[in-house]
Amino acid sequence: SLSIGIVGLPNVGKSTLFNALTSNDVLAANYPFATIEPNVGVVGLPDARLDRLAEIHNSQKILPAPVSFTDIAGLVKGASKGQGRGNAFLANIRDASAICQVVRAFSDPNVVHVDGKVSPRDDIETINTELILADLGTIEKALTRLEKEARVNKARAGALANAKAASELLNNGTTLYGGAAKAGIDLDELRELHLLTAKPFLYVFNVDEAELGNAAFLDELRALVAPAEAVFMDAKIESELIGLDDAEKRELLEGIGQDEPGLNQLIRVGFATLGLQTYLTAGPKESRAWTIPIGATAPEAAGVIHSDFQRGFIKAEVVSFADLDSYGTMAAAKAAGKVRIEGKEYVMADGDVVEFRFNV
Ligand code: GDP
Repeated sequence: SLSIGIVGLPNVGKSTLFNALTSNDVLAANYPFATIEPNVGVVGLPDARLDRLAEIHNSQKILPAPVSFTDIAGLVKGASKGQGRGNAFLANIRDASAICQVVRAFSDPNVVHVDGKVSPRDDIETINTELILADLGTIEKALTRLEKEARVNKARAGALANAKAASELLNNGTTLYGGAAKAGIDLDELRELHLLTAKPFLYVFNVDEAELGNAAFLDELRALVAPAEAVFMDAKIESELIGLDDAEKRELLEGIGQDEPGLNQLIRVGFATLGLQTYLTAGPKESRAWTIPIGATAPEAAGVIHSDFQRGFIKAEVVSFADLDSYGTMAAAKAAGKVRIEGKEYVMADGDVVEFRFNV
């Protein structure tokens, strides 16, 4: 399943953030993988379109697209040299589709910083270094094997050359996600190595609530990680939102100049970082969002619901959410010619409301 791994130095607010994310466990019952591990939480992609769809179709249930977060403990300075629990974090992080680093930018003198001072730049560097060292270790181990394979099998020459180039890039302190494209490294050739720094990165800066409106301060932090995405929040405030009703939440957020929880932004940015989008299905039983890669065709989208839908795909009845929203009912949208019949080649758009026709 789609999973975002949360990493960061000790005491930066990871647990606070993870608990705030997953305290909202309404999704667990519908997504069985949610309950496998205590360090995995599944949250719904916030999507106001689903509320409107449920209203139009009188749906009993709303099922947002699930995004799972894994709390990856144990990544500390020197982990690659055996500090803390050493490389124990590797097992968890290998399975993550993207890596989210939580960075401390709050000042509270009562919360000890492991390195004695609050420095987002240094912390990012520390975590990056550990991930880079882990990848260098992986590549070093693989090189002997790759060299042997390349000697007897020409088709393996690409993997070897790319592994060598990756090792050089990493040795210069650059992550593969940040530098592979520019260096002409083909990450597909290195897929078998499950390299950590090849995963998409995003950053959460845990800031004091007073700084949330300080654009200059936030821009400085954003510049540290660009072009990767940055999300800003106060983890303490996010955890205070737990258990409040909607009106209370709105009031608290308004008080700090925010129109939505930082967690919603994080879920959305995480989703976008992975190159994903959603399409929608709706009926009296449920209004639901389904996750597909950008560029997926109609049969591929059908396959996310059930592999039989993809195999037996005939056609899709498609209306954009915007059209359905403005016409108010399927019948009115149809009468206005806004409901299209699409075939096998159709490339899905975000927010398509779809009904598939298929042979079983
Ligand atoms: P972790 O080690 O990264 O998981 O960090 P925790 O979530 O356990 O947080 C470490 C300490 O920092 C706890 O005492 C938290 O209450 C506190 N903390 C977390 N986030 C914030 C924040 O945004 N502001 C302040 N002032 N304290 C925070």
